[in-house]
Amino acid sequence: MIRARRTRIVATLGPASRGIEKVTALALAGADVFRLNFSHGTHEDHAAALDCVRRAEGAVDRPLGVLADLQGPKLRLGVFKDGSIAIRPGAKLVLDLDSKTPGDESRVSLPHPELFKAMTAGSLLLLDDGKVRLRVHNVGAGRAEVEVVQGDKLSDRKGVALPGAVIPVDALTPKDREDLEFALHAGVDWVALSFVQKPEDMALLKSLVARRAACLAKIEKPAALERLPEILDLCDGVMVARGDLGVELEPEEVPAAQKQILRCARERGVPAIVATQMLESMITSATPTRAEASDVANAVYEGADALMLSAETASGQFPLEAVGIMNRIAERVERDPRWPELMSAEHDVFESDADILVAAAARAAEAGATGCLAVFSYSGHTARLVARERPLQATIALTPRLNIARQLALVWGLEPRVSAEMRDLEAMTQEAVTIAVRLGLAKPDERVLVLLGFPLGTPGTANVLRLAHAPRG
Ligand code: PGA
Ligand code: MN
Repeated sequence: MIRARRTRIVATLGPASRGIEKVTALALAGADVFRLNFSHGTHEDHAAALDCVRRAEGAVDRPLGVLADLQGPKLRLGVFKDGSIAIRPGAKLVLDLDSKTPGDESRVSLPHPELFKAMTAGSLLLLDDGKVRLRVHNVGAGRAEVEVVQGDKLSDRKGVALPGAVIPVDALTPKDREDLEFALHAGVDWVALSFVQKPEDMALLKSLVARRAACLAKIEKPAALERLPEILDLCDGVMVARGDLGVELEPEEVPAAQKQILRCARERGVPAIVATQMLESMITSATPTRAEASDVANAVYEGADALMLSAETASGQFPLEAVGIMNRIAERVERDPRWPELMSAEHDVFESDADILVAAAARAAEAGATGCLAVFSYSGHTARLVARERPLQATIALTPRLNIARQLALVWGLEPRVSAEMRDLEAMTQEAVTIAVRLGLAKPDERVLVLLGFPLGTPGTANVLRLAHAPRG
């Protein structure tokens, strides 16, 4: 019931993980949050998957989060008469806005007027996850002459990127808006937006979500890296989306970007997910490469809140094994004697009353004979501040709201649980102790540190640190 690791696991659901048995098995193997990927599948598929996660909660007896991942404004090529064309370096091709006429060896549509405006002679276009490179020779309104620099094939609807440029597209496509309304109506806990380019994109998502879920930015455009602090100030969570990020960034840039995003998120108490290709070879193999094991381990050493599996659990042959191995690697890293010092290496500037008390609570919890820390958090804000301190003692996050408990399933080290309505200090202390004992986190007479804020239910007001004891037994 209580996990032996602080790092959380996000598993993407898909054809390989349909049905209540499979979802329950993934949760039992260690998945904490489930991702519904709106780039694939129908609303019916996602509704069924969400229902399975809700039903699986009973089996694991802890809140499980659900994250709806919106496709975002991914730019794509049009279609070809025969589905694809052969290309070779040096070949010339025309891109235009005529999406009525299927493409051939000489031309194909690129149905994004904004993209033509952002191109200049000399621009490089990356297609099909970077496998194809096209150099722009001439560009006018809605028409560009390009030359193939690299690649041997182009097929229908391949993704197109113009590295480094901020493309003036709407942050949410009409499909994203429909998917968002569906997801919020279905009751997801988190919403992620793909291809965020600027702070305004997150501001738009937040205004559409209107507090019905927590909002997460996927960082997969270099433009977003340039405005990272401003973007993260508007986020409840962030994802290092290494797949698309790696299309526009050279391979050697991605690890540094990952560290930059994790550091910036940690400063703000914003939970961060490291995603994509973590155990890629396990799509078709029952064991990972040692390099993948090392990548997963490094993300844990870096203090990432959560690690994500994509195709490994959505469409791979070994979804359970992938979660199982990720779980084992995280547990193993967290048993490394040097791991605690790495987690506490980064502490933040304390500004508010809540920051000071949160830091004090985290430090005090490390004293001997302290079973755990329990934090009451109405909106989840104070709980995230505690997680930011990376306390080594078990931390129970108590909230009267089930959706907040489910959101907190993504956050480093928190054991979220639903509490009774928060009434007064005495009742809340008693409840924290009872839950700590029930979860096996406080042995007889051990200390339970209880952090809460008055007035109750006002975010960011942590101002009471109460020392209680588990009953003598
Ligand atoms: P995706 O996002 O799986 O939706 O593309 C993650 C990434 O790009 O890494
Ligand atoms: Mn992506």
